[in-house]
Amino acid sequence: MKSVFETLAAMGHEQVLFCADEPAGYRAIIAIHSTALGPALGGTRLLAYASDEEALVDALRLSRGMTYKNALAGMDVGGGKAVILRGAGPLDRERLFRAHGRFIERLGGRFITGEDVGTTPADMELIRRETRHVKGLAGEGGDPSPWTARGVLRAIQAAARHRWGSDDLAGRTVALQGCGSVGGRLAAELRRAGARLLVADVAPDRARHVAAELGATVVPSDAIASAQADIFAPCALGGVLDDRAVRELRAEIVAGAANNQLLEPRHGEALAARGVLYVPDVVANAGGVLSGGADLFGWSRAEVERRVHAIYDTVLRVLEMAAADGAPPALAAERLAEQRLRGRAAAG
Ligand code: NAD
Repeated sequence: MKSVFETLAAMGHEQVLFCADEPAGYRAIIAIHSTALGPALGGTRLLAYASDEEALVDALRLSRGMTYKNALAGMDVGGGKAVILRGAGPLDRERLFRAHGRFIERLGGRFITGEDVGTTPADMELIRRETRHVKGLAGEGGDPSPWTARGVLRAIQAAARHRWGSDDLAGRTVALQGCGSVGGRLAAELRRAGARLLVADVAPDRARHVAAELGATVVPSDAIASAQADIFAPCALGGVLDDRAVRELRAEIVAGAANNQLLEPRHGEALAARGVLYVPDVVANAGGVLSGGADLFGWSRAEVERRVHAIYDTVLRVLEMAAADGAPPALAAERLAEQRLRGRAAAG
């Protein structure tokens, strides 16, 4: 087994903090993967982990993912993530999140946090009492989902252009998994672009609602990944591209909003081997991250829109790199992100 420092070296992390305030019931790991492009930006998640190791692996993996996502989105911020280990006892959220805020404050702006799994805007308000390095307070920023949906549409259009020579989606069939905040909006965007829709959701009412509104066809949720369609758009869970999905998929393109769609990197290789064009999720779902630029950098709505629109160009670039290198697109995306990080390191 690798030592902790060997793991950090292999994954490229700058700094990892183990934080504790036992009277507050607070144990957390703050992982700063990279500040090469700017302060490390990443949410704080609150979860009951099976072990400390599991929490560490989650923090390391997620923070690195944030570096790549932010770099590929063209944001001048780095990547980080905080995980708070939820104990068995009752939770005093005020003490917990204020303790967290004090640790973030000590980092002096190297790490800026926000909401994530298990945390809410109210928790961010508690952190705010101790530090200003927190975003996503109640009533601030707005819902990123419409921007994420718009970015996924642009990713699908770019993939269509790469695969079929035209980004016109009229008459193309899209199998959409998950009709939630992003999926519902993406469905409307796709319909406007002239696509035919197959939709599925484990909450059947949501799928029925989208179907009734947009004239889509509802498909059982266990059949959506293998539905007869040109494009599969995963907008529900991570890990959806597993052995079975890769084997049964009939679509030529996979592009959607869900985070960590590939169960393992080898599934990206398997998709490429089958000739399926996979748009890496870190590129396709960057609209939400980009919408945060309004709050972080004072971008106007038009500026956010321009940058979300440009996800198209990034997707084309990644797919062209992948084709030229004979590499799966997920690897090409990592290489492109690393190019940007190295460029900044050389410039800085
Ligand atoms: P959401 O919770 O609003 O919607 C997810 C939907 O998927 C729900 O309707 C749920 O019932 C459905 N679902 C769950 N399991 C399913 C299954 N096995 N088959 C079919 N449907 C299933 O979430 P969201 O905000 O729309 O986000 C969707 C995905 O995109 C998530 O993976 C999220 O991490 C990712 N993402 C979201 C944003 C954003 O701006 N909201 C940004 C980046 C990435």
